[in-house]
Order: sequence, then structure tokens, then C-alpha cells
Amino acid sequence: MSKRLRDKAVKVDLLLEKAYGVPKAGKNINVLDELILTLLSHNTNDVNRDKGYAELRKRYPTWNIVRKTPREDIEEAIRVAGLAKAKSGYIKDTLDFIKENWGKLDLQWLRDRDPQWVEDTFTKVKGIGVKTINVVLSFACNADRFPVDTHINRICARLGFVPENSSPEKTYKLMAAVFPKGKAYSFHINIITHGRQTCKARNPLCGECNLRRHCVYFKNIK
Ligand code: SF4
Repeated sequence: MSKRLRDKAVKVDLLLEKAYGVPKAGKNINVLDELILTLLSHNTNDVNRDKGYAELRKRYPTWNIVRKTPREDIEEAIRVAGLAKAKSGYIKDTLDFIKENWGKLDLQWLRDRDPQWVEDTFTKVKGIGVKTINVVLSFACNADRFPVDTHINRICARLGFVPENSSPEKTYKLMAAVFPKGKAYSFHINIITHGRQTCKARNPLCGECNLRRHCVYFKNIK
């Protein structure tokens, strides 16, 4: 990966921080809670993800109880989060996987593990993709990982960090060599914010964007 792209990422990161500040990951996030929350976030918005999670925790307050609850009842509890049949299966499979391999439903120790080992181990579970586990690593384990969803993929492509037709999976691999080291969390959060406020999927507000000078998409529409 070229030095030019790494230098550009440093400049983009600074401009994003100027616009949106320097977000810091929470220090006391429970790793297993974050994993289940992230499983619920697939193909839905944050509001419905949070409603589904809150309802699950209200009906079944511990992960041990969730694990022993019939999948259909979990499905009912998380219905508002969408894809409830699949997600209830993923949650049950994840809890079974943890219990069978490490004896108790606790993942705080993942903070001390090599992030690549965590990624390789947990992506074996159905429903846990590379993006999901890297959200957990970044948000709950303070690992310098840069998860890529469709929105981040879009903006990375527009800025010219990755090819226009790159998939989120490919972008994740390419961006691992590009994002400023130690800045993955704030870079990730600020790009998400930028996508919501300015670099929207349809009709990006390029006239208001402070990244114009670095943007391939903008150069091509001028
Ligand atoms: S100039 Fe336009 S396309 Fe480029 S990052 Fe800004 S809003 Fe997105």
C-alpha cells in the first residue's frame, strides 16, 4: 500500500477530527454484551437494534438464561430488531460456542488476546462476520481495528482509498494498511458521522464537505 494513501489518511483523519472531534471508545463496555448488541445490529437501525436488545435483557436478564431459553422465545423478544429468526439462532449459537469452549459466559478476557486470533476464532460462529467481531474488538476491547460496513465502504471508495467497486470485506483488508495507526476507533466513528451528515449515499453534500480536496469522487464530478 502506497505511502501516498497513508499520508492522505492522516490528513483526512485530522480534517474529520476538526469537524467532529476525537471520539473515545468506552472503557467499561462488557465484551459479551457488545457482541450480542452487534449481532442485533445487522440490517437495522440503531433505534430498533437498541429496542430489541433492551427487550431481550428485560425478559431474560442473564446470558445463561438466554442460552437456556427456547430460540422461538428469543425470536419473539428481539422481533423489533428485524431478521429475528436468524438473529435468535446466531445469539443461541454464540452463547453455546462460548459456554462449550470456555465454560462460562464471559468474554472480558478477549481484551488481552491477539485481535487476529479473536477474529479467526469467532468468525467460525454462524452470524459472526469479520465486521461484527471487529466492531467488538474496536468498541469493547480497545483494539486498533477498523470495521467496514457499507457506509464506510462507500466513503473510502469515494475518497479513493480503495477501488470504486471494492466490497466491504476487501476494503477492510486494504484499509488495514492505510488508516492512521492508533486511530482506528475515531477514524471509524468520524467516517460514520460524516456519512450521516455530509457524504450521504444519495446526493452527497460535497459543497459543504471539508474533504473535497482529497476526494476522487468530487474531482470526477467537477
Ligand atoms: S466531497 Fe462529496 S463525495 Fe467526497 S467525501 Fe465529501 S461529501 Fe463525500
